[in-house]
This record gives sequence, C-alpha cells and structure tokens, in this order.
Amino acid sequence: MDLLKSIPKVDKFIKNKTFENYSIKLITKIAKEQINQLREDILSNKTNNFNEEQLIENTINEYEKITKPSLQNLINATGIIVHTNLGRSLISQESFDKVKKVASSYNNLEYDLQAGKRGERYSHIVKALQNLTACEDAIVVNNNASAVFLILNTFSKNKETVVSRGELVEIGGSFRVPEVMTQSGAILKEIGTTNKTHKKDYENAINENTSILMKVHKSNYSIEGFTSEVELKDIIEVANKNNVIDYFDMGSGHMIDLPYNLDSKEPSILKIMENNPSLLSFSGDKLLGSVQAGVIIGKKELIEKIKKNQLLRMLRVDKITLCLLEEHLNSYLKDELNNIPTLKMLHTSIDELKKRATYVKNSLEDICKCEVINTQTLIGGGTTPNKKIPSIAITIEYKDYKPNKIEKLLRENGVISRIENEKVLFDFRSIQECELDEIIAIVRKVFK
Ligand SMILES: *Cc1c(COP(=O)(O)O)cnc(C)c1O
Repeated sequence: MDLLKSIPKVDKFIKNKTFENYSIKLITKIAKEQINQLREDILSNKTNNFNEEQLIENTINEYEKITKPSLQNLINATGIIVHTNLGRSLISQESFDKVKKVASSYNNLEYDLQAGKRGERYSHIVKALQNLTACEDAIVVNNNASAVFLILNTFSKNKETVVSRGELVEIGGSFRVPEVMTQSGAILKEIGTTNKTHKKDYENAINENTSILMKVHKSNYSIEGFTSEVELKDIIEVANKNNVIDYFDMGSGHMIDLPYNLDSKEPSILKIMENNPSLLSFSGDKLLGSVQAGVIIGKKELIEKIKKNQLLRMLRVDKITLCLLEEHLNSYLKDELNNIPTLKMLHTSIDELKKRATYVKNSLEDICKCEVINTQTLIGGGTTPNKKIPSIAITIEYKDYKPNKIEKLLRENGVISRIENEKVLFDFRSIQECELDEIIAIVRKVFK
C-alpha cells in the first residue's frame, strides 16, 4: 500500500521539467494511462517496485511512438517502377517547388481572373490536354476508378453498357469491373467469351436501351493462344453507326511511346486519340507519371454532361492535385521529360544502370558478397502485363543469413528488395540515382 501511495498524482507528475517541450495535452493523456497501468500492476502483484525516472521515460517513449509519422520514405529496390503499394509515381522536387507557392497562397482555383468572377476548377488542365492529345475537352477526378464510375453513372444509369467477357477484370482487389458497373447503376451486357470476342458481338448486343460500348484494358492479365479481341477503332465504328457512346478505360495511360517495343501492343494516348473516340479515361499516377487522379478526355458535349452530374462534387480534386497535374502536362508539352521520374526510370539505359550497380557493389564488397547481374523487371501498375523489361541488379549475400532474413532486415531499415533464385536483389531500375549512397549506408548499418 505504501507503494501505491508513492505513485505521483497526474497533475503533479506532468509538471516535471522533462516534459517542458512536449504537448502537455498529449503528455497528460499518456501519463494518466501509464499511472493507471502501474496502479493495476501493483494491485495484481505484477510489479512490486516503482521508479519515477522509468515512468517519465515510458511516457516520453509512448509520446514519440504516437507522434511519429506513419507514412515514411522508402527506397524501392524491387525494380517495379509503378509500384502501387509503394506509392506509384514519384513527384520530382522541382515539381513540388513550383506547386508550393500556389498551394500556400490564395489562388485562382475557381476564379476567372479576366472576368473577375467565379471560374471553373477544371479549366486549368484543359488547354494542356487539348494541345497534347487533340481532345475536344477534358475533366479530372480523384482517380481512374472514379472516372469509370462517373462515366457509367452519367450515361448508363438503368441503361446497358456492353463489355467483352474477356475484359471483366479485377484490378487490385477492390476494383472489379462488373461490381463497379452495378454500383454505378449501369446494366452490364456481357458479350463474347473469355478468349474471343468479335465485332459482330458488339453489333448484335445493341438495342434501344444500349448507351455505351465499353472497352477495358486487361491491365494485370493476358490471355495467350486461341484469342481475339476487337480493336478500339472497330468498337468506335460500331458505336458511331449505332449512335451510342464508345468508352475506353485505358488504365495506365502513357502520353508518349514506350521503349523496348512495348508500344506495338500498347498504343499511347495520342495514337488512341487518332481514332477520335467518344471518351477515354486513364490514371494520373501510373505511366503518366503524375499525381493520383483520373483523367477523362473526349467529346465536348459528353464532358459537359459529366460536369452536370452531382457526383462530380464528391469526386473532385484538390488544388495540389490540379497544380501538380498541370505542371506535368506542361512538362510533356515542353518536352521536359526529365521532370517526370517515372519516365526517367523507364528510359534509363542498361549501361547507366550497370554503372550505378557497380558503384554500390564496390562500396559494399568489404562487408557482404555482391554480384552485378542482368535481370528483368515489370513496369507495374497494370501496364503491359507479362511484358518484362531489361534491368540490372546486384545480389546481396551475408554470412549464412537466409534471403528472408536479409530482406526483413533491409525492409525494417527502409529498403524494399526482391528475392529471386534464393537471393536478395537490389534492382536498379527503380532505385533513384540520388539514393545510391543512402542504400550503401543502410546496408553497412544493417550488417555492421
Ligand atoms: C488501374 C486501373 C484502374 C483504376 O485506376 P486508379 O487510378 O487506381 O483508380 C481502372 N481500370 C484499369 C483498367 C486500370 O488498370
């Protein structure tokens, strides 16, 4: 009982000088919990001593734990450039610098400076998209999933949207095309089979309640063998003839051609626009290399209708998103592709990757076993499924440590690696040039 009496009162305890530079509100909350716990532990004989220094230390440790930011920067050594779990596309420091001023000041987000009255939030990106893609009009929402939902809800509520069975895909678990369609109010009209859909399937599916012929990028799977799918330009032709809308959910939209011959199968936004589609939507943070957003481009009269949908208000983007997106679209216009890290990584030469890998290997050889190897990696983000691109990696071996153990140690210190053929790899396709010394320092710390 003496022990219980010696526990300090909360209001006295929190006056301790050590807490001077901390939020007293949070310290009080934690101190209360600590003291209650201590009291319980004493009563249940879990502890039979108590020390004020220890109580102070526990309180501060808990404070640091609570206030430590949960989101933190990592080094992506997996080789996957558009890694959804690791934040997809990177934004360059330069882009952020330009955006900082606008975001931390009042701005013309919805203000027409010429007319001196209310303006249009989406106007800031329309001109750049018109110049880049020759679209009539454009709009931006939270992400591409919202774009799909909004388009279907605007044009196909209680009406039929025709989709090939080969394209009823699930992307990343929480986005299944059939379910999104149902939620949006659209009636799904499935056509064709898993492996084959023909132009006549689209023609035969059209009736007086049809509103959209939709094409969905298969993104994370591909079918091989006895297959056929209808090209977008044929779907557009059928749609035009029957006076319905054609819509392509492109998934990861790329503005310029892809390297390594990938674009023969994956036409760019520009190439697709040559067919004059009604509506096209794509993600802002996949291969476009910008911020999380869903970009919709297409016919002016259709975009006008989308703007009138009340749902748009729920899906609208913030000034920071618009500012970054405008900055990146301008980079495309000015051919300043170095400002877009995703493209920079995609186009880095094998020689350059080898140079970086060798530098890291030479700096680590004295503490672990490293080897520079040729490898292949995926772009990620549902772009070009199954199509690998060449890359360079180093293997990391240390004493008799199992790869899982090395991977875990590195992960706990902020490096996400990949295990292949029973070895831990650092794939340089997704490691930034400015991160080389940091990755060396982390490995040296882990294996010290
Ligand atoms: C990735 C993807 C989406 C979802 O896009 P988000 O920007 O992640 O919302 C939708 N459709 C396809 C085909 C995709 O590849």
